[in-house]
Amino acid sequence: MTAFHSTDMTVKTCKRCLYRDDHPLGLVIDDDGICSGCRIHEEKDQLDWDHRWHELETLVAPYRSTDTRNYDCIVPVSGAGDSYFIVHTVVNRLKLKPLLVTYNRYYNTPLGIRNLANLRRKFNTDILIQNVNPLSVKSIIRTTLRRFRSFHWPAIAGQTVFPVQTAVSHRIPLIIWGAHQGLEQVGMFSHLHNVEMTRRYRKDHDLMGFEADDLLSIFDNLREEEIWQYRYPSWDELDDVGVRGIYLGNYMRWDPLAQHQQMVELYNYQSAEQNRTFDVFDHVDDWHYADTHDWIKFEKHGFGKATDHACREIRHGRISRQIGKKLSDDYGKQKPKNMELLLEWLGLDEQSLNYLLNPNAIKRMGLNDIELNTRADSAPLKTSTEAAIREIFQPNSSLGLEQHTPSPIVIGKGYPDIK
Ligand SMILES: [Zn+2]
Repeated sequence: MTAFHSTDMTVKTCKRCLYRDDHPLGLVIDDDGICSGCRIHEEKDQLDWDHRWHELETLVAPYRSTDTRNYDCIVPVSGAGDSYFIVHTVVNRLKLKPLLVTYNRYYNTPLGIRNLANLRRKFNTDILIQNVNPLSVKSIIRTTLRRFRSFHWPAIAGQTVFPVQTAVSHRIPLIIWGAHQGLEQVGMFSHLHNVEMTRRYRKDHDLMGFEADDLLSIFDNLREEEIWQYRYPSWDELDDVGVRGIYLGNYMRWDPLAQHQQMVELYNYQSAEQNRTFDVFDHVDDWHYADTHDWIKFEKHGFGKATDHACREIRHGRISRQIGKKLSDDYGKQKPKNMELLLEWLGLDEQSLNYLLNPNAIKRMGLNDIELNTRADSAPLKTSTEAAIREIFQPNSSLGLEQHTPSPIVIGKGYPDIK
């Protein structure tokens, strides 16, 4: 297969993890052959985390409201990811009263809806849900597919902007996020930099360089009424409220696996096997993230979510680099299972998708002739490898992602087992 990403022989790979120095977030490899992500990860075993936690408590103290009718902070959540752990930390450890916010990405799995309903119930918290009308979302997706081969742009744009819009509209200045992706993956910052949310990082990395208004200026077929919900508040609005977004990962030793295991035990967070990664916790609320979205990412950049998860586990010392490489290679070749569901929702056939993915790139993308594996076709992992991984990553939900609904669940407000 001819991959879309660079095959330049001068590209270097980290000796410890699997990332290369052409990582889209930017990464440097030092004279010892170790990448910046691995170097920053070393801080996790060097920093005084009790001291860091104290810094966090001091930081949030002024935001604690004395009026019980007010919220102390905003916490963005979904039916997966680190949502439970963040809310647990905010409510039970920092003793703050959050307003939860969530953006409906329209790719909801039953498990994601169940996990979100359970989260609201277990923590007894208020939540705001943003539903952008699906016609606008689909119009934007057609544009972003054609422009930068992403159908996930509205999802990422929405989930990163709705909390900020809510901070302004409800005059709640503090937003609390989990870990900073740039720090965790590629060591863009030290934990000691206490980096906070910025509009610039969101645009450059989350949104691939395009904010809502940039889409308007490039394409005539998108209209103001379709993009305004994704517009970032102005500097004056942010300044007036004093909006800031902080990352818990700067103040706590961030370890998603350990955190998820704790959330399963404490709150019955549920997990499921995913198509294109061995991790059973992240993204189980989304039909397409560890599926078609990840396959496109793999074609563009030469690695997918399994590589991210393998690098994380290698750095935490739970799997060897060799096992990580095998997992990354095997899952990277997995054929997307839910593409039909996506195409049906978008009203596209595969040919139209090819066109929108950029006609000049079809051949290089190899969309039509790529040899993809199904799980049964791929070489089985060595028993010891598979056993080691299965032992660590155990799905616990009966709502596996194999169970297709006939059409996407566009909105879900509760779930039968959550009273
Ligand atoms: Zn590395």
